[in-house]
Amino acid sequence: KLLTYLFSASMLTGYAQNNPSTMIDQKVNQLVGQMTLEEKVGQMTQISVEALLKTTNGVVNEPHEIDPAKLAICIQQHKVGSILNIGGDAQTKENWQTLIQTIQAMALKERLKVPVLYGIDAIRGNNYTLNTVLFPQQIAQAASFNPSMIQKASQISAYETRASFIPWTFSPVLDLGRQPVWPRIWETFGEDPYLVGELGKATVEGFQGNNQVTDKYHVAACLKHYMGYSMPLSGHDRTPAWIPEREMREYFLPQFATAVKSGAKTVMVNSGEINGLPVHANKHILTDILKGELKFEGFAVSDWQDIQYLYQRHRIAKDNKEAVMIAINAGIDMSMVPTDYTFCEDLIALVKEGKVPMSRIDDAVKRILKVKYEVNLFDNPSGNNKDYPLVNSAEHNKVNYDAAAECITLLKNANNVLPLSNGKKLLVCGPAANSMRVLNGGWSRNWQGTNSNETEKDKNTILEAIQNRFGAANVEYAEGVTFSEEKNIDEAVSKAANTDVIVLCIGENSYTETPGNIDDLTISAPQIALAKALAKTGKPIVFVLTEGRPRVISSIEGLSSAVLHTYLLGNEGGNVVADVLLGKVNPSGKLPYTYPRHPNSLHNYYHKYSETLEFDQWGGFNPQWEFGFGLSYTSFSYSNLKLSSNQLTDANAITVSVDVRNIGSVVGKETVLLFVSDQVASVTPEVKRLRAFDKIELKPGETKTVSFTIDNDKLSFINHSLQRVTENGDFVLSVGGLKADFKYLGNL
Ligand code: BGC
Repeated sequence: KLLTYLFSASMLTGYAQNNPSTMIDQKVNQLVGQMTLEEKVGQMTQISVEALLKTTNGVVNEPHEIDPAKLAICIQQHKVGSILNIGGDAQTKENWQTLIQTIQAMALKERLKVPVLYGIDAIRGNNYTLNTVLFPQQIAQAASFNPSMIQKASQISAYETRASFIPWTFSPVLDLGRQPVWPRIWETFGEDPYLVGELGKATVEGFQGNNQVTDKYHVAACLKHYMGYSMPLSGHDRTPAWIPEREMREYFLPQFATAVKSGAKTVMVNSGEINGLPVHANKHILTDILKGELKFEGFAVSDWQDIQYLYQRHRIAKDNKEAVMIAINAGIDMSMVPTDYTFCEDLIALVKEGKVPMSRIDDAVKRILKVKYEVNLFDNPSGNNKDYPLVNSAEHNKVNYDAAAECITLLKNANNVLPLSNGKKLLVCGPAANSMRVLNGGWSRNWQGTNSNETEKDKNTILEAIQNRFGAANVEYAEGVTFSEEKNIDEAVSKAANTDVIVLCIGENSYTETPGNIDDLTISAPQIALAKALAKTGKPIVFVLTEGRPRVISSIEGLSSAVLHTYLLGNEGGNVVADVLLGKVNPSGKLPYTYPRHPNSLHNYYHKYSETLEFDQWGGFNPQWEFGFGLSYTSFSYSNLKLSSNQLTDANAITVSVDVRNIGSVVGKETVLLFVSDQVASVTPEVKRLRAFDKIELKPGETKTVSFTIDNDKLSFINHSLQRVTENGDFVLSVGGLKADFKYLGNL
């Protein structure tokens, strides 16, 4: 017995010693034990690289160079532990490597040799490094309904980001995209909390890999913007939101919970205010829910300047020092300052005065150091260029093309006008036709994405790709209008005369954050004028909508024969559009948001019964296109919907199966969406909620059986006492137009 005991005890000790989590905790505790208050506060500080770059006459030198005197103030004087961003335009991979090596060299000369954690908005590809893959933006990715594709793309993004020696990306956005005026909806995975959660998890797994300690090909993810950022009442970025806690827990929290569970190492906090309290000051959201209920063990970083904004903008603090006290006590672990050192000075004073407890500082610093160990910074503070031969390789670009091909969404195809046979003569026109900037959107080589046309010269715009595929001699081009002005509509109309089909490329130009605020969702007037003029020619018009949010087109939709929605497809977008027109790609994307018919009819697919046309015939739910809508060049038929039981209890789950058959003549991919409607509930039920989905590929004539599992958790909701419950009663399940009833009987 004694021997067995000794043996198992030594096994346990051995396990503890080798368990990465325990080992990291031990190292972290040891390191924190050696730190002075100044060193601890430095770890909690994040400075923008902008403040550290060499300038000439106030303008940043290109290529960027670190100014050693500025870096010394940052690292040696203030012991800063994190640096972010870019401070101008995209740099080459080699220049990034030099910048990071310079920073780390100085950090490693410090007493405790703690490397700097560099973070960047590499949001869909390493978009701040030149010559890297630019994948479709998140809203486009969501239309793919394909988590494994998204995981693969995120893995490549991580690899290419690490190639710049950067181990941390401020991505994914898990905000719920249900306010289409909001200028950041294109950064989201759309309007459904379940979809956002599943795709967020896939992204985190792609970025971070499966191990607690990432290898040199993975980066730490950052879930943002925790939480409730996407629903400002006015739609304008960073303006007040009113979200009751029940709605917060029903629609805005679950996706963060899913992604935290999948191991996300960091979280960035919502810049806005909710119910009169800025989230950076909200202890309930930051500490009780995030670190308590969700058991989040990583660290929470503020958004840009948001501690200062507590007094400069929100006015809940009288000065910077009070703002720092409120934010750190609420649970912010790291401050994205970003350009001065008042945060450090004020926090040091606050601790000395007893206004911020040392226990809070130690907690924050431990969380930060833990992530530094987990991204393996101590062993590998920068990297080795030799390890990254695949940046922008044919292999990576092929994944990008395949990804974009799964996102593009066909919304209309009257009389099967698409695909077009080769040999057709085309007029390509509109302000989105010949622009990489429009296809890529924001966060593309610079913040607003304004210089994509310059940086992506070797990539094909929609026009260039169509010229390549259809032959330049078959393609006429006229821009017609810009996004904001009529230019030469007559030229477009006269060129249309010699062609068979018009490809009208309209939408929005790139923008990021507040500069993208608008007051009207309607597509701009010059584009409407161009569509109307072209329609008079009588030629069939294919609309290509390249836009980051659903711009209302109801006044011209009837003039189109076909509509393709590309969202912001990235660098392969042009090629994919051309291949869809030709029929080489069969579109399979489905809308990840409700496409409104009118600028003010902003319902989500999971609206309430009182918002249906039955009860509000003057303006109830009647969108241009519904969430989940998307056509194909083939057709699918659904049959044989079967439930393993029509009674669900806590002890059994129901297996749902359905047969899907390709009844057309080409190969196609179909996303099977399973919705459930709760018939009666103590909180007014939504007309339906997405509870499961799967994407399959079918050859002509082929049938596949798709199965899902429904358990009581999938039917649960947050009740008025803020508890997650499933109430007994009747439910209706729908898949591909088929319906079945079942009952939930609870704990029998
Ligand atoms: C944005 C964040 C971004 C941060 C750093 C902020 O303005 O809200 O999404 O990660 O800047 O660039």
